[in-house]
Amino acid sequence: MKKSLFTYRVLFLGGLIFLASESVCAQKSVGAHNIEKNNNVPIYFPLDKNDFVKMSSAYGYRKHPIHKKKMLHKGIDLVAMKGKPVYATATGVVQKAGYKKDYGNYVLISHLGGIKTLYGHLWVRMIKKGDRVSQGQLIGFVGDTGLVTGPHLHYEIWLRNKKVDPLLVWKNLLKEERKEVAINE
Ligand SMILES: [Zn+2]
Repeated sequence: MKKSLFTYRVLFLGGLIFLASESVCAQKSVGAHNIEKNNNVPIYFPLDKNDFVKMSSAYGYRKHPIHKKKMLHKGIDLVAMKGKPVYATATGVVQKAGYKKDYGNYVLISHLGGIKTLYGHLWVRMIKKGDRVSQGQLIGFVGDTGLVTGPHLHYEIWLRNKKVDPLLVWKNLLKEERKEVAINE
């Protein structure tokens, strides 16, 4: 029972990521109007759909791969090969861009409405503190800096300085989008 629930959860999460990356493709093909509508909310997927391999770690408690202790993982780990581009998921201003022992090379972007996004373990950073960035703009490349066992992007969404589950944010944003579509029809 426990195992099947777990499998369901992994499938569910995988489906959400698929939906989120599909949404990016839809945004790209529909054109600028649709991107503008959502440019201040982090609905954008931070990697190219074809570069994204899998989610290796979800938000929540897990046994830390290096510390070997049960710790709260406050973001999601998106696996891609080292050197693949990382994009800003919403328009905003770079609040921090630096190096930390755990995050490695990281970027923290501040968006409207008390929303922030963080991108960790970058190989190279392409932006600096104070830069304005647009949704979908290249901000760096996937790497393995900081505390990692392999190259991936550690991605966080902060709501009023609380780190929340990015998959739940995507789920809610996609739901809102569908509601809007229904109203437009
Ligand atoms: Zn992580």
